[in-house]
Order: sequence, then structure tokens, then C-alpha cells
Amino acid sequence: MTRVKSYAALKATSPLEPFDIERRNLNKDDVQIKISFCGVCHSDIHMARNEWGNTSIYPMVPGHEIIGVVESVGEDVKKFTAGDDVGVGVYVDACERCSNCMSDNDHYCEKGIVLTYNSYEYGTKNITYGGYSKRIVVKENYVIKIPQGMDKPKAAPLLCAGVTTYSPLTHFKINKHHKVGIAGLGGLGHMGLKFASSFGSEVVVFSTSDSKRDEAFDMGATHFVNVKNAEDIAKHQNSCDYILDTVSVNRDMSQVFSFLKTDGIIMLVGLPMEPLAISSFSLIDKRKGIIGSAIGSIKETQEMIDYCFKKNIYPEIEIIPISKINEAFDRTINQDVRYRFVIDMSSL
Ligand code: NAP
Ligand code: ZN
Repeated sequence: MTRVKSYAALKATSPLEPFDIERRNLNKDDVQIKISFCGVCHSDIHMARNEWGNTSIYPMVPGHEIIGVVESVGEDVKKFTAGDDVGVGVYVDACERCSNCMSDNDHYCEKGIVLTYNSYEYGTKNITYGGYSKRIVVKENYVIKIPQGMDKPKAAPLLCAGVTTYSPLTHFKINKHHKVGIAGLGGLGHMGLKFASSFGSEVVVFSTSDSKRDEAFDMGATHFVNVKNAEDIAKHQNSCDYILDTVSVNRDMSQVFSFLKTDGIIMLVGLPMEPLAISSFSLIDKRKGIIGSAIGSIKETQEMIDYCFKKNIYPEIEIIPISKINEAFDRTINQDVRYRFVIDMSSL
């Protein structure tokens, strides 16, 4: 076991603070990574503050948008050597035997994935700890290759915000014939906007923040709708083929459905705690639908990283030292981030 400096939430109501954890010794198929950068996902806040129905395990070291450098590898590791640039996303193990694992849907493993943090390693009471930490030990199958020359701090948010938006958009083969809505222009939303725009779609951003209007156009939006402005709303009724909903709080879903055209589909990725209130009338009129989507597979994550590198697609980020993490949580909740905080782990 190695002692590793980290930042942890010790309970739902306390701010994150410096905390030492133990990382396991390397198994034969493990990779030890020195963490350089870690993105701050809104899920880190939901989980640190126990906002998902008492599912939080303490002490909790959040962080699942990890970029680092390989320090050492177990004797059976084939794909990585010391010095490689690598990433780790939202999960670090799956059963590797069920039909989903066998068909590159490992993120939907039937046994249940082991999350990068806030999980137990299979068959143990060992808590997994995430990327707000100096080091992490991960099975090689769950480590992503980061191409040489990729912007490291900007690559971090791709490991969750990137793949979570890339996965449903590519699943539905979004292309230049589609009009795609992006609801909520935050960490996930702005990546969804950049991907949909790169696929050639007409993209309309649905936002509560008028101050994001110009930036939305800079990032590839075709239209910007302030969802509190009746004139804006009227222009886009019954017009979208798909809407990627990334909003982190509950609100009136009938308005979101009103922007879909016949057979249109909401791709839901935002995760407010309370059950969504959806009126049957929103669905039956014009045969509209809603599907959910969680992160993406390891294969999709690698494909997305390579796509971003090739196309020069990166998130907009603000780099912070770890000492500013509690402020960053509050600013994220207050929609005061453009568009993802990334922690420089050399500050720990
Ligand atoms: P974020 O950066 O905080 O973005 C959320 C956006 O929601 C905000 O930028 C804001 O957009 C909108 N919003 C916030 N408060 C609002 C309010 N009171 N009313 C209306 N809109 C509001 O969060 P994120 O990191 O992108 O994550 C978004 C959600 O996705 C979270 O619930 C997170 O847990 C979830 N998530 C899901 C997955 C998955 O696998 N499905 C993966 C990662 C995260 P505007 O300012 O444009 O209105
Ligand atoms: Zn996340």
C-alpha cells in the first residue's frame, strides 16, 4: 500500500479538505498513474453532497476526469509503459463477461461497473478513490491512451463530459440533416454543442443564461434560445430532431418536449435527484420520446479522444489549484463557470 495525498469530503455537509488515502500495490494488470490534471464534474458535487438518494460513501475523494503520466506497470501490462500520457474516466472495472461487456457496452455491465470513486472494488469493502489525488492505480483495460501532443489540461474533461455527450450523439448518428438542441450550456452542454456542430448539424442552444449567448455562437451554435424569453421560445417550437438534455436541476419538461418535432427524441444525460415530471400529453402528441444515456464505453472513450485530437476539439476550461475546489463547486452550482474547472494537481 502507498500513502497518497488527496482531497476528500468526510461527510455530505463538510467542505473538501486535505486527506491521505492508501492506494493498492500494483497487481499484474495494473497501471500506476501520477495525476497531472482532474476536471470538476457536476456529478462530483452531487456525490460529495450526497444528492443521489443516500448513495454516497465517505470519506470520498471525487474526480473522474483524470489525466496523468504512467509511473510504473504490473508485469502483465501490455499496452502501457512508464512515461505514457494516459486518462481515466468514470469507471475502473467491469465484469468483462456479461453480454454488455462482450459487446463494447461495458459501461452498462450487468454486474455493475466499479466507479472510479464512490464504489467498492469487486468483492471487497475497499472504497475506490478518484482523481482529486496525487496518484491512482487502475487496471490497464480501463486506462485511455492520450496521444502525444494533445493539450493535457483541456483533455481532462473529455474523460466524462466529452464521452457522455459524444456517446448518445454518435449512437443516434447525428449528422448534417439533423437539427439538434442542447439544453443547458455547462460542462457537458458545451461539449455536446461542439460535437453536434462538428457533425454538421444545425444546433440550437436552450439556456437560462443570456450571458452565454455570444460564446454559444463562437462554439458553433446556429441559434440561441433563452428559455425564459417567450419570443425566443416561439421560434423553435416543433423543430428539433433531437435534444441533448444536460440540465442538472429539475424543471418543466413540457417546455423541452415542445421544441421537438414529430418523432423527436430527448437524449437525457442530466441527473437531478428527483424523478422527472413528464406529462403523458408531452409524449403522445407527435409521438415524441425520451431516452437516457450514461457516460460511454472504454472503446467509445478512446474513439472520442482520438476524434478530438484529430479535429482539435477541446473544452473551454479554467484551471484552478486544489485549494480553490470548494469555491469551484459553489461557482459551478451558480452557473458561474466557462465551461469546466480543471484542477492542476501539482498544487497538491
Ligand atoms: P454544469 O456544468 O453545472 O452544467 C449544468 C447546466 O445546467 C448549467 O450550465 C445550466 O446551463 C443548467 N442549469 C443549472 N442550473 C439550472 C437551473 N436552476 N435552471 C435551469 N438550468 C440550469 O454540470 P455538468 O457537469 O455539465 O453536468 C450536468 C448534469 O449531467 C449533472 O446533473 C451531472 O450529474 C450529469 N452527468 C451525467 C452523466 C451521465 O453519464 N449521464 C455524466 C456526467 C454528468 P445554462 O446556464 O445554459 O442554463
Ligand atoms: Zn462526470
